[in-house]
Amino acid sequence: MRLLLGLWLMAVTLLADAHIFVYHRFGDTRYPSTNTSIEILKKQFDYFKKNGYRVVPLKDLVKRVKEGKTIPDNWVVLTIDDGYRSFYENALPLFKEYRYPFTLFIYTGATENGYRDYMSWDQIKDTMGYGEIGLHSHTHPHMVSKSDNYLKEDFEKGLKLIQNRLGIKVAYFAYPYGEYDQRVKKIAENFGFEAIFNQNLGAVSNESDLLDLDRIALTGDPNLKQKLRVNFLKANWIEPQKWPKNSIIGRVHMTVFDHSAKKGWLYLTGYGWKRIELRNGELDTFLNLPLKNRRSRLILKLEKDRISTKIVVKP
Ligand SMILES: [Zn+2]
Repeated sequence: MRLLLGLWLMAVTLLADAHIFVYHRFGDTRYPSTNTSIEILKKQFDYFKKNGYRVVPLKDLVKRVKEGKTIPDNWVVLTIDDGYRSFYENALPLFKEYRYPFTLFIYTGATENGYRDYMSWDQIKDTMGYGEIGLHSHTHPHMVSKSDNYLKEDFEKGLKLIQNRLGIKVAYFAYPYGEYDQRVKKIAENFGFEAIFNQNLGAVSNESDLLDLDRIALTGDPNLKQKLRVNFLKANWIEPQKWPKNSIIGRVHMTVFDHSAKKGWLYLTGYGWKRIELRNGELDTFLNLPLKNRRSRLILKLEKDRISTKIVVKP
């Protein structure tokens, strides 16, 4: 009995909240930093299959979050950014073979203008029986650096093109480069998307913000097992809210909803992890570190791999 209970507990703790993964290119060795080889993709698909994970359509996950219902912790959602031709040519057959649904976030300007590496509208249409379509902007800009007007026009163009070329109304948006701040988020939200996606480390629970869902990048040969262990952490980042004027991260101030948490780890891009302490669910510390990367992330990790991420982007 004890052994059985032990095994059961082990099985339970191995699974975490639901996860959304993001891919870019497939079987395209020219760009190693955004590529996933077909061999590794197959390895990942087999891992999902053998370990009881269910790859579900994005709309099922969004529906669950919306309803506030518990999300099965073996759920996995696969998304693909940019709409590269290498998805269509190299990866789509494998998605079909495994019957794994996907969501393609389209860079409409590239497709409309016939850029060489991107899928055509006809090719995108071809995928629609197997997956869903989202918007990934019209010009793929670094959004934090663009004016309100530029961004509004970009959204309008992208949405209109998808409507005209594919005959659908798009419900999802993913930020180019995963870059955004509160201003960009507000503009995106005004277009009425059902869900908006970043590229921050984190999992999805029924407490997730539908307009700020975390997606974990799967490029190269990542430690999939470790990424699947990530749990959702409900947190409120107070400071920093955006890229600091002097490019130095000073105070880091945030709260978590679990007041029992006393110790954790704080990560900053370019600096790695640092042990931190919380008091009554509050983290208040001074880093005073010059930011090294124009796209930097702060990550708070508590026990059981509960993770919350904040991105700051240089305008
Ligand atoms: Zn992109």
